[in-house]
Amino acid sequence: MERLQSSVCNWLPRQWGQPKHRLAENQDETKNAPKSSWVSNAGSHESEKNAGSMDPNASLLAPKTRDALRCASMAFFQTPPSLGNQFDDDALLREYLERILPAETLAEHLAEYRELGEMAGGDLYRAMLADRENEPVLTPWDAWGNRVDRIEVSPLWKRAEALTVKHGLVAAGYENSCGDLSRVHQFALNYLVQASLDVYSCPLAMTDGAARTLMDSGNDELADYALPHLLSRDPATFWTSGQWMTERTGGSDVGKSETTAVQDGDTWRLTGTKWFTSATTSQMTLTLGRPDGNGPGGRGLALFFVELRDSDGLLRNIEVNRLKDKLGTRKVPTAELTLNGTPATLVREAENGVRNIAPMLAITRTWNAVASVWLMRRGIALARDFAKKRVAFGASLKDKPLHQDTIATIAAETEAAFHLAFRCAELLGKIEAKTASDHERSLFRMLTPIAKLTTAKQAVAVLSEAIECFGGAGYVEDTGLPRLLADAQVLPIWEGTTNVLSLDTLRALSKDATSFEAVHREVRRQCDVATDPSLAGCTATALAALASASEWLASAGSDRNALEQGARRFALTLGRSLELGLLCQHAQWVAERDGKTGRAGAAARRFAAAGIDQIHPMSQDDAALLSSE
Ligand SMILES: Cc1cc2nc3c(=O)[nH]c(=O)nc-3n(C[C@H](O)[C@H](O)[C@H](O)COP(=O)(O)OP(=O)(O)OC[C@H]3O[C@@H](n4cnc5c(N)ncnc54)[C@H](O)[C@@H]3O)c2cc1C
Repeated sequence: MERLQSSVCNWLPRQWGQPKHRLAENQDETKNAPKSSWVSNAGSHESEKNAGSMDPNASLLAPKTRDALRCASMAFFQTPPSLGNQFDDDALLREYLERILPAETLAEHLAEYRELGEMAGGDLYRAMLADRENEPVLTPWDAWGNRVDRIEVSPLWKRAEALTVKHGLVAAGYENSCGDLSRVHQFALNYLVQASLDVYSCPLAMTDGAARTLMDSGNDELADYALPHLLSRDPATFWTSGQWMTERTGGSDVGKSETTAVQDGDTWRLTGTKWFTSATTSQMTLTLGRPDGNGPGGRGLALFFVELRDSDGLLRNIEVNRLKDKLGTRKVPTAELTLNGTPATLVREAENGVRNIAPMLAITRTWNAVASVWLMRRGIALARDFAKKRVAFGASLKDKPLHQDTIATIAAETEAAFHLAFRCAELLGKIEAKTASDHERSLFRMLTPIAKLTTAKQAVAVLSEAIECFGGAGYVEDTGLPRLLADAQVLPIWEGTTNVLSLDTLRALSKDATSFEAVHREVRRQCDVATDPSLAGCTATALAALASASEWLASAGSDRNALEQGARRFALTLGRSLELGLLCQHAQWVAERDGKTGRAGAAARRFAAAGIDQIHPMSQDDAALLSSE
């Protein structure tokens, strides 16, 4: 929308073209201005200089006259993208919850969903933009030379903790308020709000994973001690947990971990370096160490519980070497740590640490999949809004056929990813509530790596495209938009990289012969219900892709190199086939409700054309050549 009057120019957010000094000069105007994250007096000096350079006489003019001239000669300022209520505006989420939750359960939680949607699109979103430059600060020493290693997190993170407790962003998964759909409810809460909480989801995912791991550990004493904190709805007692696995030797090959564990009376002492520890502000962590005398590899490691601070709030034989300077997730205090005989408690036996921490990974990978979707959804919500506001070549972008096509493509990817991530949540809830069949258990084992790797890759691609939808503004930091892509880029890396999870998918197949059949059965079930004629091509595509994956698996046989080389294409084919099946199932439900498949059918048809079958046999020799020369 064009801005013609200088009075309007005055309050435009400055990254969209407003001279910064205007706000400093006219206090009355500032007072009347809408609360904007961009309202700032900083840098007014420089703007003054730049303004002068536009017109040699400008510095001789009264500020008001000068600004009037400027606004008259360059009258256009772009209205920035904004967000509405993130529940009301999300047709897919509302449809999905209506389909999955019993009507009375949905009615019970509707107000809370709407409240979170309102905060996420309004107050919290503005606070996140305002908080953009606030990053965690490490203070290693106090004024008197004592080693303190204090980490101060951003103001928004402090608010996020209060919200977590109030809305049970972790606890809701365990409170059984929705029976075996409690995980769907919990992840819906997080999906609604987390895109406005600066990746506070990172410690929450680990907290959730730690709760599950302790609950399943058989160590009742430890579980009774920690769970009331991890699942607390009281800010005074709430804890978050870390998950310290990665060492300099490797985050994928954790079996090479060098941290040692020595028994010291009733306790153990850990010594070593942890190379990536996110949420170092947590009160506890689960971590791995090798008990004295144990053999190599993951089996020789043991799983330990560490309470980070003593009663004075000081770290217990832990030094924070530094915070990582990262591409994204910059609000997350990810640290390198040295453990110098840190007291620790054995969670289970003094071996099999990698196996024993696996329940944590199933949870954090599910969080990762849902996080991929809430980030994609945020990019699309902003891109759709911007398309209504930005005019080019005589029309709104929203009316340009090619721009529509661009947004439609990423919207279809997002809807597909949404269904896969929430299918994981459904299965997790059923397994925890002990209502899952054997088939569903096998399916979940396959789905956790597949959903994590598939949705994470989609998130990076979708957000890259979403950023481009804003043109240059998408690349400019103080619009807040580049953070979306930078934050998304961590999703395929942490909690297992794409390659590592592709290999994990093969491992799951080799350990449980029924798991591949579980995937086939799932996709067949989805396709069987999708009887609307407009979905026939989609179901055929999903089934054909699955058949292609089966053929590839059979042809690779026991050739380990061939299996490893094609593992990613195989896993992505399974992921995308499942997504397409789920899209069809959902579109059918919409058709039965509304008489037509609507947006859901459009998503299925577009996604079906976007490459479901990723199996393309490739020469190993070519790969060796291209990866080395
Ligand atoms: C922001 C951030 C926060 C993090 N927070 C934590 C945390 O809190 N706790 C924690 O424990 N870790 C954390 N990590 C670490 C993360 O989990 C690891 O970086 C990740 O698992 C990869 O390990 P690596 O960095 O050692 O890479 P490597 O394992 O060395 O992998 C390098 C490359 O090799 C590939 N690769 C490895 N093995 C194979 C194979 N067999 N076949 C084919 N390709 C292979 C990988 O896919 C990758 O592309 C964090 C990382 C980041 C970026």
